[in-house]
Order: sequence, then C-alpha cells, then structure tokens
Amino acid sequence: ARLVQAFADHVAIALENTRLFEDTRRLAIMDPLTNIYNRRHFYELAHVEFERTSRYHHPLSAIMFDLDHFKQVNDTYGHAVGDQVLKSIAEICRVRLRKSDIFGRDGGEEFVIIMPETDEHRAWSVAERLRRSVARIPIPLNDEKIFITISLGVATLSRERLIAGLSGDILEKLIDNADQALYQAKQAGRNRVVVFSLKEVQ
Ligand code: GH3
Ligand code: MG
Ligand code: MG
Repeated sequence: ARLVQAFADHVAIALENTRLFEDTRRLAIMDPLTNIYNRRHFYELAHVEFERTSRYHHPLSAIMFDLDHFKQVNDTYGHAVGDQVLKSIAEICRVRLRKSDIFGRDGGEEFVIIMPETDEHRAWSVAERLRRSVARIPIPLNDEKIFITISLGVATLSRERLIAGLSGDILEKLIDNADQALYQAKQAGRNRVVVFSLKEVQ
C-alpha cells in the first residue's frame, strides 16, 4: 500500500506540474480578460504567418477595430462593466473568425486580426460581418442589455505587391494602414468598415 501511495504522490505532483506549466504558458500568450492572444503573442504569430505568406506570394489581410464611444460605457456603468463588454465583444468576433485567423487584443479596446490567404474583398466581407454581428447582438449587463458598435479598418497585402518585392517591416506597415483606415471609419461617423487603398503599402 505504501508503494502505491508513493507512486500516486508522484503522479499527483507530475499532474500539478503540468497544470502549472499550462497556466504559465497561457498567461504568457493570452490576454486574461478577453481570452484571445495578447499583443506580444499576436505579433509573434503574425510575423510567422507573414513570412510564410510572402514566400508563397499569397495574399494577407489585416483588420483593426475599436469600440465606438466606449468611454461612455465606462462613465455610465463603471469600469468593471466596461471590462465585461470588452469580453463579450471579443467573444462575438472570435467565434466568427476562422481557425487560421490570428486574433489579438492590441491594447485597451482595440483589436487586431491577421487573415492568411485572404484578399481585399474577402477581408472587407469578414469585417462587415463582424460589424453587423456586434451591432445586432445585445450585450447582457446585470439587469439590462446594451448595444455596442465597432469601427473597422481593413488593409491587404496582395499577391502583386508581394511579387513586386517589398522591404522594411511590411507587416507593421500593413497593420498601420489598417489603423489609418480605422481612423477614417471613425471620422466618417463610426459603425462602419473602411478599406485602405493598396497603393500606399510600400
Ligand atoms: P471612439 O468612438 O472615438 O473610439 O470613442 P471612445 O470613447 O471609445 O474613445 P477611445 O477609443 O479613445 O477611448 C478608449 C476608452 O476605453 C478609454 C479607456 O478608459 C477605455 N478602456 C481602455 N481599455 C480598457 C479596459 O481594459 N477596460 C475598460 N473598462 N475600459 C478600457
Ligand atoms: Mg480606442
Ligand atoms: Mg473607442
């Protein structure tokens, strides 16, 4: 019986170590609030995908999005409810993306998506679908429901651009272009998708 007990203790310790290892790894790569990739891990994965994409001259798209008038939510309901809203929006989007899409929290209430093998038209349609879903789905709070909208910017690295040969940190430029398009979406009135013009990715 002692032998069995000693063995069982070892197994328990091994399992506990595995769990600790998993928890640590998870904390290192995931955003604890929204349960999607944190910024650092998002960029790691995005770079790997970008390298692969450029080698095969496949298209790659980026979406940046930001919640509309989110300060009002915090001001009206408090920061804790704001956090809950962020979590809900991330989940609405997460389940609507493909497994191959890389979805991360860029910081605060801004999110970023890299979509491999995705041309401009398809990226626009994904962004538009996310926009519509978020606007349509009520977010449950304690005793009421609220509606939130998001603004999105889309940018695409096309096959033509990749064949033409690009230099510098192209991925960073691509995401920056998506961010500029997002800014235009805000300027144009929010709750909309703007596609960045390809010509300026260089
Ligand atoms: P806009 O439509 O222009 O985006 O308006 P906005 O009110 O959303 O403005 P902005 O994007 O500049 O504001 C971001 C706000 O989001 C400010 C900050 O208090 C809040 N915020 C950022 N990160 C978090 C967070 O983790 N939790 C909560 N609850 N609020 C956050
Ligand atoms: Mg913001
Ligand atoms: Mg905002």
